[in-house]
Amino acid sequence: MVTTSYTDTRLLIDNVWSDAANGKTLDVLNPATGKVIGTVAHAGIADLDRALAAAQKGFDAWRKIPAHERASVMRKAASIVRERADAIARLMVMEQGKPFVEARIEVLAAADVIEWFADEGRRVYGRVVPARNLQAQQLVLKEPVGPVAAFTPWNFPVNQVVRKLSAALASGCSFLVKAPEETPASPAELIKAFVEAGVPAGTVGLVFGNPAEISNYLISHPIIRKVTFTGSTPVGKQLASLAGAHMKRATMELGGHAPVIVAEDADIELAVKASGGAKFRNAGQVCISPTRFLVHNSIRDAFSRALVKHAQSLRVGDGLAEGTSMGPLANARRLTAMAAVVDNAVATGATIETGGARVGSEGNFFAPTVITNVSLDADVFNNEPFGPVAAVRGFDTLEDAIAEANRLPYGLAGYAFTQSFRNVHLLSQRLEVGMLWINQPAAPWPEMPFGGVKDSGYGSEGGTEAMEPYLVTKAVSVMAV
Ligand code: NAD
Repeated sequence: MVTTSYTDTRLLIDNVWSDAANGKTLDVLNPATGKVIGTVAHAGIADLDRALAAAQKGFDAWRKIPAHERASVMRKAASIVRERADAIARLMVMEQGKPFVEARIEVLAAADVIEWFADEGRRVYGRVVPARNLQAQQLVLKEPVGPVAAFTPWNFPVNQVVRKLSAALASGCSFLVKAPEETPASPAELIKAFVEAGVPAGTVGLVFGNPAEISNYLISHPIIRKVTFTGSTPVGKQLASLAGAHMKRATMELGGHAPVIVAEDADIELAVKASGGAKFRNAGQVCISPTRFLVHNSIRDAFSRALVKHAQSLRVGDGLAEGTSMGPLANARRLTAMAAVVDNAVATGATIETGGARVGSEGNFFAPTVITNVSLDADVFNNEPFGPVAAVRGFDTLEDAIAEANRLPYGLAGYAFTQSFRNVHLLSQRLEVGMLWINQPAAPWPEMPFGGVKDSGYGSEGGTEAMEPYLVTKAVSVMAV
């Protein structure tokens, strides 16, 4: 494999890459080794003020460009991302840990997302409403809401930015993102593609620093008209409150705790392949990761054995090494969190069928883990583990499984495996989730809505629904005189 050296990341303000005004930086670590591989600029208030002024300027310029020309610029950015997919993916592996194949898929999917939204931006139609007076014309216009502030996490460094960025730009908004300090270089490459594709200065901006300081400052600032956040539910609630206090629109893509319901009549092989594959992708650090495996008691043992076999077949290692199927956890906090999740499960009566411990003593490697006989009181059955732990529990009736699936305040993704139309119908109607995948792995295509209900947040990051939060409606009535 061609080697790519890791690059230090700077702020992008007014289309210029710059250090923080105070010269401050943060270290970036490789999670496979724990070693420092580079730095990222740490913005202060002076930098944020410049970034905000640029975002206003960028909005004033970008909104005046016709939608079909904006689409051409976005398509050019998508081509640049696609051409550089291998190099961007290598940067992502070095800073985030996931296997190169997964990183490359993420980057190529980003190009697909940009193109889909570029086209969607050309179809932002208003309406003509029949007037009560024949001399009058009544128009409904859709306009971009204004400069957007986005906050994105480290699990999908490129994907988490690109959905927000593409919907914002396609709607005619400018976009200022605080991307993750732990994984800054790959999202910076995404932003760079838009600069090179020719967006006007200030249309896109990139900052890093202290997340709470930046979000407090940007969300409260009058230039920002729309807020979008992906991350944990507690932080999402804080940011949504702040957005509410300043009457800003908000999209919140928060934590999940996906149930996987495996019915009595399920194809077990398919269920293990689809849900097991999804469970250990990105070492389980995925908001739509399958977590509570609810399996009909008649097939519970057979399913658990097959899931264990799947987990044991994964090769854990450096994401850049040939043949790695699961990389390290993205940061040392997750390693501590996984050990606590497993200890708590055992203390509450669970059995570790495989895994359950750190692998090696260097880097943040944790074994793919399957636990059974999990109590409803176990932490893993109540809080998002955000790691490679599959927790299995049996059920007797589908009604019981649905009640358990809906028990938690989360409502992001759900999975189910069954061959009966009656079950499909019941599950589709009754599960309290924003996304449900039946007899298949997750398929979060850009044309499908992506978002949650309940404590998993609100708003969508896919489908036509993803454009609406970036648009305001203006009713114009004209009388012929
Ligand atoms: P965390 O809650 O501290 O941070 C999660 C993300 O939110 C990070 O990107 C962080 O930079 C950002 N963040 C934190 N406080 C913020 C603030 N005040 N303003 C703006 N951004 C802020 O936790 P963590 O240790 O980084 O991640 C662990 C938990 O976060 C996981 O258990 C999971 O629930 C959640 N998470 C969810 C997603 C997702 O895709 N929904 C992604 C990453 C993390």
